[in-house]
Amino acid sequence: MPSTFSYAFDTPAYKGTATINTGLFIGGQWVDPVEPATIDVVNPSTGKAITPISAGSSKDVDIAVAAAKKAYKTAWGLKCPGVTRGKLMNKLADLIEQNIDEFAALEALNGGKAYGVAKSVDIGGAIAVIRYYAGWADKVQGKTIETNENKLAYTRHEPYGVVGQIIPWNFPMGMLSWKVGPALATGNTIVLKPSEITPLTALKFAGLINEAGFPPGVVNIVNGYGHTVGQAISEHPVIEKIAFTGSTLTGRKILKAAAETNLKVVTLELGGKSPTIIFDDADLEQAIKWSAHGIFFNMGQCCTAASRIFIQEGIYDKFLEQFTAIAKGLGDSTGDPFEQGTKHGPQISQTQFDRVMGYIESGKADGAKVAIGGERYGEEGYFIKPTIFTDCTPNMKIVREEIFGPVCAVIKFKTEEEVIELANDTVYGLACNIFSENSSRAIRVAHALEAGSAFVNCAQATEMFVPFGGFKQSGIGRELGEYAIDTYTQVKGVHINIGIKL
Ligand code: NAD
Repeated sequence: MPSTFSYAFDTPAYKGTATINTGLFIGGQWVDPVEPATIDVVNPSTGKAITPISAGSSKDVDIAVAAAKKAYKTAWGLKCPGVTRGKLMNKLADLIEQNIDEFAALEALNGGKAYGVAKSVDIGGAIAVIRYYAGWADKVQGKTIETNENKLAYTRHEPYGVVGQIIPWNFPMGMLSWKVGPALATGNTIVLKPSEITPLTALKFAGLINEAGFPPGVVNIVNGYGHTVGQAISEHPVIEKIAFTGSTLTGRKILKAAAETNLKVVTLELGGKSPTIIFDDADLEQAIKWSAHGIFFNMGQCCTAASRIFIQEGIYDKFLEQFTAIAKGLGDSTGDPFEQGTKHGPQISQTQFDRVMGYIESGKADGAKVAIGGERYGEEGYFIKPTIFTDCTPNMKIVREEIFGPVCAVIKFKTEEEVIELANDTVYGLACNIFSENSSRAIRVAHALEAGSAFVNCAQATEMFVPFGGFKQSGIGRELGEYAIDTYTQVKGVHINIGIKL
């Protein structure tokens, strides 16, 4: 029998107890893995284990897919009207909201995010996304298409059936909501694998599925490692579509597995090396604050982290002085996510800590100068100080590769043409941020940059109504907005003969 786990929080930010089931959630029931195995979930602020959770295998994925297929055929998909799906989704969002403090506490504990940010951005955002897609559930429509007087033709936007969803650790509930929302709204059933590093809120979420009233098997949550559960989802012949967020390396594996099995449709949200560009006609004070948010938000663990910051030469010195001061302030507010005033937490894991420190060492070895940071914070946990490098050249690893930590390279430029060239000199194309009070220039540059999202006079400003995704090696397909509805449906053209005789 799967066990439950309770954590009693007695902190300045939150006092209360959060309880989750640590098993696999399949077919509306908590079950043990077919082959008993567990994964230890770690608190990144201390490096100590929080709890073991069940770890599934391909056998559990098979069972979950069978449950999802049965639910699709008998109680969901074309069997359940959109208005009913929307109602259940709204109920689910209400239940998450009723438990928002527990969700936020688990997200802060497991993810190292400041409690207030976890509550408003991660959990508050997830609730909003599920409600937004609940609103879409009864608005998925086809078209009638003119052909000739003897034919009626129309399109239907039908669900795929069972979809697989694999999510990362940087925004556990956020990424879950981006995946689950459009999939449920369009009538698909789900087999979802949370990151093995941050599964706690997904388990809390699974605990609300039955209470919201979903038929058993519509949502299945299978925890486990990428090379086992993740790979089994990617290869499964019954799964018709897969949605993934994570590294470009894993994205390639998923695409390959899909190509070699049933050619399932794949959407990928991958890495980035996003540029921030500040022209000398920008509102400098605002540009500096947004640039700091662009790179340091969530300890730099954002796919849209703007880790290359291009500054026009006339404002370079002033920018650097004030930008460094913000990074110092952030560094001074590093600490426990549950303490009042904490703004900067730990990296997610020892592996990520080592990777980010490795990039910092490579920047130093390549001759870049550390303007601030460049070292760990404290003795315990995975804290790294916000780090700014100057004197960077285009071929340095810290300028070319995704770091996924609180580390940025500041680079001076002279002209608009030059900076467009520099900013586009990357295999990635997820986002870009442009700061200028000259609207013609800002729009011109936003259009010239190769990125799926262009933010003018802001950064990290994704909205659930607007499509999100990557150009180049940052991904395939779009999430959010109406575009996500399209990626979870397949179009059928129906031809009705009303007069042609043979
Ligand atoms: P990852 O790609 O290894 O993991 C993301 C998810 O994919 C996890 O659920 C993982 O279990 C799963 N996975 C791993 N191998 C798999 C496989 N072979 N088949 C199917 N699923 C598999 O990412 P990570 O190791 O957690 O982080 C490494 C790097 O990925 C980071 O440094 C960062 O560059 C990038 N990343 C990007 C995002 C993003 O939002 N774009 C998020 C997290 C990590």
